[in-house]
Amino acid sequence: MSHLILARSRNDMRQHLKIWRDQGKKIALVPTMGALHNGHIALIELGKQYADHVVTSIFVNPTQFGPNEDLARYPRQEDEDRAKLCTIGCDLLYAPNLEELYPQGFQTRIELGAITQRLEGVFRPHFFSGVATVVAKLLLQVTPDLAIFGEKDWQQVQVVSTMVKDLDLDVTILTAPTVRDPDGLALSSRNAYLNAEERRLAPKLKSALDKIAHQLKTNPAGLDFIVGQAKQDLLAAGFREIDYLEVCHSLTLEPWQLGDPARILVAAWLGQTRLIDNIGTS
Ligand code: AMP
Repeated sequence: MSHLILARSRNDMRQHLKIWRDQGKKIALVPTMGALHNGHIALIELGKQYADHVVTSIFVNPTQFGPNEDLARYPRQEDEDRAKLCTIGCDLLYAPNLEELYPQGFQTRIELGAITQRLEGVFRPHFFSGVATVVAKLLLQVTPDLAIFGEKDWQQVQVVSTMVKDLDLDVTILTAPTVRDPDGLALSSRNAYLNAEERRLAPKLKSALDKIAHQLKTNPAGLDFIVGQAKQDLLAAGFREIDYLEVCHSLTLEPWQLGDPARILVAAWLGQTRLIDNIGTS
């Protein structure tokens, strides 16, 4: 169990970081919205491997939620999160209030192009602009050497990497593989919304992705049929709606063509809960 510094303000956070910087230490940032689980912990572990000090931020970012989304009910459990951060050996928790990131008069948004128009961008039109804006702000406030993101949010990783490159932000982006429950369900703070029956059905998402990955390897010509069938199977099993289930170019997220590096991505609804997942194909 190590000592966890809690900073609520940018100035406080930066004072602590200055001490480490003056000592020539490398700093990693792990941005989160809290309700920490083992997926988040894996990112912090990776940060500890590559940096001397790890900063975790917890901020439920209102600008990435649409008007009818779950901002109000998003799980908030800072005491438990702080205990987990102490146990794992995170050095500093940056948990700013709203004003610290969006002060009175704030009016800037970062918009990216094509990569934000597909998949999540179709169903959550403001999401990536909210993510890009808050991630840019956190990167500029913390100025870490490394920032770590989960493959669980694959499109988000591509969006953040594109933004960092386009804006010449001086930070290295690292990614960590998706952490799953033993039955295949990707860990997510939103899994807490699932009732027992929905939780039982949820791993079928990963099975659908695996089936498509297998088809891609063995008979890519039959891909469209298998994707269509996988959608039908999910709906028949009890999923309420499928926003998308697609094979894409892993970096541009354009529809996959023979020879492209592939990523299979899905977003689907179980009752009132929207789950996303994705896998690679190597
Ligand atoms: P969130 O708190 O959901 O905004 O996620 C914060 C970071 O944790 C993002 O980079 C996510 O991609 C990552 N993350 C969330 N769930 C997982 C998971 N199951 N495995 C690995 N990383 C994850």
